[in-house]
Amino acid sequence: MLSARLRRVGPEPVGFRSQRQQPTWIFDLDNTLHDARPYIFPQINHAMTAYIQQHLGLDYDAACQLRRHYWLRYGATLLGLMKHHGTDPNHFLWHTHQFPRLRQVVVSEPGLRIQVSRLPGRKFIFSNAPKHYVDAVLDVLDIRDLFVAVFGIECVCFRPKPAARGFLQLCRAQHIRMQHCIMVEDTLENLYAAKKLGMRTVWMAQAQRTPGYVDRRISSLSELSLN
Ligand SMILES: [Mg+2]
Repeated sequence: MLSARLRRVGPEPVGFRSQRQQPTWIFDLDNTLHDARPYIFPQINHAMTAYIQQHLGLDYDAACQLRRHYWLRYGATLLGLMKHHGTDPNHFLWHTHQFPRLRQVVVSEPGLRIQVSRLPGRKFIFSNAPKHYVDAVLDVLDIRDLFVAVFGIECVCFRPKPAARGFLQLCRAQHIRMQHCIMVEDTLENLYAAKKLGMRTVWMAQAQRTPGYVDRRISSLSELSLN
């Protein structure tokens, strides 16, 4: 479905160190700087379903179905809840992103701090997750101080990636030019949006093929400093 919707844009890979201007790195968080799949995403899905059950008075199966329906339709369950049920986004995000034992469930690459700190240029985080959760994960990863600023979903008026608005807001606020940015992401739709805005793109993925709007595909962050 994705490949049918997305057209090829931009040239093939660039050597990030070969650019005259130091790049500005914009990193996604989940499944880019750490692996949220084994523990964190299942917990978030569970918490969202429980929230929908409690606040909309649905049984478990109906709540699961609605959560998934809004995620597919709007790209985020939150947007559907805001649009159709008047859900308070801050309340929802706070209650669905609680990890009292976060240190035990964050999965990351060894040497992450060294890999990120080696990269030349300023670095930012742009995540569709709430900022309290992003900050907490970055603290566990011990890389919070490597980033100039962290943009969570509330920082972009609850308009998650791939909406252009968030990218524009980030770049405007930080006086960044799109063409100096490198977006590092695991989600293709977000990379497509970044590419359309003039950014270079790095896809974090274990995949055989690379779409034309991806400048570079990596399977480990250690590959970023090789070029
Ligand atoms: Mg991600």
